[in-house]
Amino acid sequence: MELLIKGNVKMGPRVFLYNLPPKKTCTPTHWCLKGRNGKPACYALRNNFNLQSVIKAAQARLEFSKGPEFVGSMVQAIQRKKPEFFRFHSSGDFYSEEYARKVIQIAQQCPETLFRTTTRRRDLTNVLQELNSLPNFIVRESLDSERSEPEMGLPFAALASLKIVNPDTDYHCLDDCVKCNYSCWKEDFNMYFNEF
Ligand code: SF4
Repeated sequence: MELLIKGNVKMGPRVFLYNLPPKKTCTPTHWCLKGRNGKPACYALRNNFNLQSVIKAAQARLEFSKGPEFVGSMVQAIQRKKPEFFRFHSSGDFYSEEYARKVIQIAQQCPETLFRTTTRRRDLTNVLQELNSLPNFIVRESLDSERSEPEMGLPFAALASLKIVNPDTDYHCLDDCVKCNYSCWKEDFNMYFNEF
């Protein structure tokens, strides 16, 4: 199994990812599952994410992350590929405190890489605040119409339509990381994005 995934066209070649299965690992809202005319609004439940090969690989990564070799193998893989930017969970989320603590260890051992992620796991607020306090890791709370106010003491990533969004102070995701110069890995601003 290839542990790390190369970023897609939108993210450009300087990004690598680690994805887990959605639904099983996050805490989806009705919007995630049915918010797009009765179909999933979450992009991790649509398009390429529905390919059998992608589902199987995410499941394999989930199993691997539970084992004793996870931290060492990830650190080795990241040090080999040397990504400047790393995204945990384009799909999926922190499924336990133990897993979040492993991610802390990985980021601490890869100080040259900037990491970011979004989360819906309010039950893991304390450990995710700890992760967010690392100098090379930004964790944002993911907001939608059913979870429209932040509660985790983290910066947020929100749908553009939410009242909490202030276009004067919050950052509008360009959906093109190269053009944006990877801003949301570098600064811990609140950000918002268009629904597509
Ligand atoms: S804010 Fe910029 S860097 Fe972050 S996902 Fe959007 S386009 Fe990419």
